[in-house]
Amino acid sequence: MSFTDAEVERYARQLVLREIGGAGQQALKAASVLIVGAGGLGAPAAFYLAAAGVGRMGLADPDTVALSNLHRQILYAEADVGRRKVDAAAARLKALNPHVQFKTHAEALTAATAAALIAGHDVVLDGTDDFATRFAVSDACLAAGKPLVSGAIGRWTGQVGVFVGKPCYRCLVPELPPDAETCAAVGVMGALAGVIGSMMAIEAIKLITGAGEPLTARLFIYDALSGETRTVKVGADPACPACA
Ligand SMILES: [Zn+2]
Repeated sequence: MSFTDAEVERYARQLVLREIGGAGQQALKAASVLIVGAGGLGAPAAFYLAAAGVGRMGLADPDTVALSNLHRQILYAEADVGRRKVDAAAARLKALNPHVQFKTHAEALTAATAAALIAGHDVVLDGTDDFATRFAVSDACLAAGKPLVSGAIGRWTGQVGVFVGKPCYRCLVPELPPDAETCAAVGVMGALAGVIGSMMAIEAIKLITGAGEPLTARLFIYDALSGETRTVKVGADPACPACA
């Protein structure tokens, strides 16, 4: 897989990184990433992955852009309000990097559709905000042996983790939490979506290029109000409903 002079210039600051280099850039160009949820987390993740030169990107989201999305979903402009998110996102990302190929799915990922949606992708990013979708994504990734980069935000706190086989996401969250909060109800700091979504992009790039150590079986937690972070290990749950 070769690069044009324009591509070499575009990725120059990334190509000189020892951990990426020409081989890493080739791996990115050969890779296909699925972004589930083109919202607060999916938007910055998709932005940086397209900028980094991922070759193919799938975008799955059933929603249209709302005015209340714009304080954190940085792919969208006011003129996009009412437009399908996957269409507005693909248009914005193509304008950023015409070398990326997009496949859009204006539908929710469910247990019934998950396997078909993730097929053909090398890494799956889940930035959705409901547990039914997260479980469906996790179960499908586990069954297909695909690495999952999972992010979540609410109020002033965010987290990101990587799951490859065991432990899986459901070792962390086995069942639907009865007290699950939604950003619509409790709010979310917009810039926090940028922090966690960007970290999801970095983890995907690390998985694709082999750079560094992905957050596999670990969960990074950022408390923006206190300015503190911590990283905890995630162990395989022998009673996990998915991977045990
Ligand atoms: Zn599990």
